[in-house]
Amino acid sequence: MDQYSFSIATLGCRANQADSDRLRAILNGAGFQEKPFGEPVTCSVVNTCTVTAEADRKSRQLLRRALRVLPEGGQAIATGCAVAKRGGLGKLPGAALRLPPDRREEILALLQVESCPGREIPSGVSAKTRALLKIQDGCDQFCTFCIVPYVRGRSKSIPLAQVVEKAVEFEQNGYSEIVLTGIHLAIWGHDLEEEPNLATLAQAILEATQSIQVRISSVEPDRFPLSLIDLMAKEPRLCPYLHLVLQHPSDKLLERMHRGYTLATYEEIVNKFFDQVPLATLSSDIMIGFPGEDEDDHKLLKSFLKRTPYHHLHVFPYSVRPGTAASKFKDKVPKEVQKRRRDEVLRLGEKLKIASLRRMYGKTLEVIFEQETRPGWFKGTAINGMSVLGKAGPAVLNRKVPVTVRRRLGSDLVGDVGLIATEI
Ligand code: SF4
Repeated sequence: MDQYSFSIATLGCRANQADSDRLRAILNGAGFQEKPFGEPVTCSVVNTCTVTAEADRKSRQLLRRALRVLPEGGQAIATGCAVAKRGGLGKLPGAALRLPPDRREEILALLQVESCPGREIPSGVSAKTRALLKIQDGCDQFCTFCIVPYVRGRSKSIPLAQVVEKAVEFEQNGYSEIVLTGIHLAIWGHDLEEEPNLATLAQAILEATQSIQVRISSVEPDRFPLSLIDLMAKEPRLCPYLHLVLQHPSDKLLERMHRGYTLATYEEIVNKFFDQVPLATLSSDIMIGFPGEDEDDHKLLKSFLKRTPYHHLHVFPYSVRPGTAASKFKDKVPKEVQKRRRDEVLRLGEKLKIASLRRMYGKTLEVIFEQETRPGWFKGTAINGMSVLGKAGPAVLNRKVPVTVRRRLGSDLVGDVGLIATEI
C-alpha cells in the first residue's frame, strides 16, 4: 500500500460527483495519491446516495467493500446524502467515519492529516477533459417523494463572480468542457442580489472564456429560464443538450409529487428547444409507479414518450423514502404492476434512442475524444452529449474534432473523423 493513498467511489447525481471532485482536489493537494476503488489505500471514501432504497443498499455495499480491503491504519469514510440523513445507513460497520457533505472541507482534519510529508503538492488542477462545476446546492421544492431537501438543506447559489472565476481557472488548466451541476439548477440565482438566472450565468461564463464549452447537467422544468434556449440557439460553445427532468406527464401526478410545473410548461420548453436549437438532444428521468398512478396515467406516459424525440430515458421505479410525504400515501402501486410498466417504458426508451441516433446520420458533430477503446479507435462525447467512436491517431485525445456521423454501433455513433484530426 502506498503510505498516503486514497480512493473514492461515487454514487448518485452530478452534485455528488462534483463533491467527490472537491474531495479529490483536497486529498491530491495534501499529497495523497489516488488509486482505483477496491485497492488497499490509506483513505477510502464512499460518497453515498439515498435517493432510492436501491441507492441506500449500494451505498452500504460499497462501504463494506471499502472496509474489507482496508489495511491496518487505513480509514474508510462515508459521505454524501445517506450520511446527511438522520440515522442514514444505520450504524456504520467497523471503524468507518461519517463526513457530512456540508463539512467535506474538513476531510483532512477528520483524517488528522495536514499534508503528506515528503510529497510535492500538485499546483492547480491537472489537465483533463471535463470539469464539474457545482453552482448550487440544496433544494426548496420538497417534492413529496424526495429526501434531498431534508438532507441537503435549503437551496444556496454560488455567486456569479465566483463561478466565472472558477470557469476561467478550469480553462487555464486545460479543461475542454465545464459541466454546471447542482441539485436544482434552474433556481440558481434566486437567493442572490438582482436574482440572475442560469442563462445570465452561462452568458457570463462564455464571455469570460475563449474556447471551453459549457454543458448544463440535469435540470428541473420548474423556473427553467427560457432565455437559456435562446442562448443555446446562438452560442456554439453552449452544448445543445438538456436533461430536463419530467418524472411523469400526468398533471394529476405532477401535482401530487409537488413538482411545481405542469405538462404544458414542460412541453413549452421542449418545443422551443427543438424549434430553435440545431442538434437539440433531450434526455429525462421518468418515475414509474408513483402512488396513485393508474392505467390511464401509464397510457398517457407512453403516448407522450412516443411523440417526444428523447435520446435517453433514465427510468426508475418509485421507492418509499421514510420521512417523505409520499411515504404516507396509501394508494401504492403493486410491485408487479410497477415492473410491467417499467419494462414497457424501457422498451420504448430503446426505440427512442435508436431513432435519435439515426437522426444524426450525415451530420457533423464536434466531438471531444477521451479514450482509445482499441488500437486506432477513439471514443468521445459529442457537443450534444452523444457517445461517438472514430478511427484516428492519439493526437485527437482531449481535442475538439469534427466527426461526420455514418452509422451506429449499439448506443454509440460511428463517424469519419474530420480533417483537423487527420492532419494532426
Ligand atoms: S426538485 Fe424535487 S426531486 Fe429534485 S432535489 Fe428538489 S425535492 Fe428532490
